[in-house]
Amino acid sequence: MGDTKTEEILAPLRARVKEQGDLVRKLKTDGAPDLDVKKAVAELKTRKKILEDKELSLAPSYTFDRAKMEDLLKRRFFFDQSFAIYGGITGQFDFGPMGCAFKANLLHAWRQFFVLEEQMLEVDCSILTPEPVLKASGHVDRFADLMVKDVKTGECFRLDHLIKAHLEKIAADKKTTQETKDECQDIVVKLDGMTKDEMAAVMTKFSMKSPITGNELTEPIDFLRPETAQGIFVNFKRLLEFNQGKLPFAAAQIGNAFRNEISPRSGLIRVREFTMAEIEHFCDPSDKSHPKFEKIRHTELLLYSACNQMDGKPAEKTTIGVAVDKGLVANETLGYFMARIQQFLVKCGVDPLRLRFRQHMANEMAHYACDCWDAECLTSYGWIECVGCADRSAYDLTQHTQATGIRLAAEKKLTEPKVVDVVEATPNKGLLGKMFKKDAKTITDALSNLQISDVDLLEKKLNFEGSYDLILGEQTYNLNKEMVAVKRYQKTLHVEEITPSVIEPSFGVGRVMYAIFEHNFKQRDNDEQRTYLSLPAIVAPLKCSVLPLSSNPEFAPFIKQIFDDSSGSIGRRYARTDEIAIPYGITIDFDTLKEPNSVTLRERDSMGQVRIPLDDIATVVHNLSYSKQNWSDIESKYPKFEQQESKGV
Ligand code: AMP
Repeated sequence: MGDTKTEEILAPLRARVKEQGDLVRKLKTDGAPDLDVKKAVAELKTRKKILEDKELSLAPSYTFDRAKMEDLLKRRFFFDQSFAIYGGITGQFDFGPMGCAFKANLLHAWRQFFVLEEQMLEVDCSILTPEPVLKASGHVDRFADLMVKDVKTGECFRLDHLIKAHLEKIAADKKTTQETKDECQDIVVKLDGMTKDEMAAVMTKFSMKSPITGNELTEPIDFLRPETAQGIFVNFKRLLEFNQGKLPFAAAQIGNAFRNEISPRSGLIRVREFTMAEIEHFCDPSDKSHPKFEKIRHTELLLYSACNQMDGKPAEKTTIGVAVDKGLVANETLGYFMARIQQFLVKCGVDPLRLRFRQHMANEMAHYACDCWDAECLTSYGWIECVGCADRSAYDLTQHTQATGIRLAAEKKLTEPKVVDVVEATPNKGLLGKMFKKDAKTITDALSNLQISDVDLLEKKLNFEGSYDLILGEQTYNLNKEMVAVKRYQKTLHVEEITPSVIEPSFGVGRVMYAIFEHNFKQRDNDEQRTYLSLPAIVAPLKCSVLPLSSNPEFAPFIKQIFDDSSGSIGRRYARTDEIAIPYGITIDFDTLKEPNSVTLRERDSMGQVRIPLDDIATVVHNLSYSKQNWSDIESKYPKFEQQESKGV
């Protein structure tokens, strides 16, 4: 992107983004009406998109043929559309043997890299969630998508998407009056915050029908987006106890997530059901430093800050240390995870040149989040968010505490003991039991939860009126001085209670897999038909093949485990194993029969071959498969095997 000619072309587009970015900033500082800000933001997004599309069209292109890759992935059954024999369903996929093995290896690597290396606490929680939990988490209010159904076919549509598409079509029509065009544009901008009734009114006003069949549509229905994250928050107390009450600690979970995608069309990138691997790292809100930050301080990341996005500037390469020092990335813990996410993705096959971290702009971020960066991979669909990494502050635990009355908090040791005044309403349990029977416990609990101001009021009432009315729901309990007393005393505290902040990296596993597929789909020089997947051994579905040169019976004793006894030339069979990304291949040939027995080991990407004694081969393959040695170590230790592999029939 540094090339001057390219920059000349991009300069006017960058200027247009900056102009609009400045306008958004100004409207916000002037406290302009919400609708004006939203409209300006919508225009900013459009200008950013034009800039990004142009940038991509001018960037050095990657030779990539999506149809060819999809053909390979389907032929070798990495994955295919679900229910294909019934016509298939867009946005739902089934993984075949190779896809399953790849996914299992990816998740295994994830567990090693995060859960084991960072000593996280893994949980596996139920997805079906009672409504009060989702109400407290904010999902009911913010992540409930409205759906409508085709009354005849039952096909579901996401209402906001449907309205947007419908109104944009009207606005684009030459016959539409300027007044209607403006109205459509206004509605599209406001859609995000619209209620169910408001959206229903828009549907009626513009006589909206199913875009597929033209049939009538039902009334809007609420549809929640289930997800696994709440499982960790609701188990916070147990997890903290398991960690002996100490902060920071992290919990991790691999589970399924669902999204209401109405017309998913982008392969594994936009699906209705997918695996998510999530981490919730709990830390002291006043100290978000990370004990291992120094280890990754010098890691270079490509950062696309919110500021650069508003100014029309490109992403910049910086070390995470500098980014945190400058305050660009909010804190060390967030920065630590960003660096670790990058290390993990690259280790599993993401091309570092096609990876960036994009900061959320203020309008994209949830109100409680204080910073959020997405790891985005460049694919043939453009830049795609594969991993989200957000500092969610104390939002989730606070919400669940408020909803349940159960304090989801941790104790922090004070540097110096603190003397505090305590005011308490102390119940006479015996008397309360006698007077209020089964309600006595509810009263005692309510008394212990009273705020200081309520205790003050209670004391006043008892002193001046002789009794106090405790109102709990529909019930009023009249309490007198015998039943409850107010105690005031001083206490020395050695710990204080804090609600931890949460840093949340969440990995869309299908998207990560897809990016790895694209970044590793290759074709041999001079032979476009010979395509292969250069997946790193650590995630490759199978690590090594054993191919006898021919069906000569003398080879049989050497093939204890025959992985491939199919026929065809050796070159042809290598091509097959390359397609399913097998990184290493052992060949048993006539030299194997000679003493000392040896085999050829071939590496997929370079197609280099070495001769290895039979006794060493198992260890060598194991070491290569689990990154204990790399191919150049092996090439320098063992003699090269020069015979060319023939292409075969
Ligand atoms: P979100 O909670 O929406 O930020 O999503 C968390 C992660 O899930 C994202 O970083 C994506 O990788 C992934 N994701 C979100 N929506 C989809 C989808 N429709 N299909 C596949 N992956 C998705």
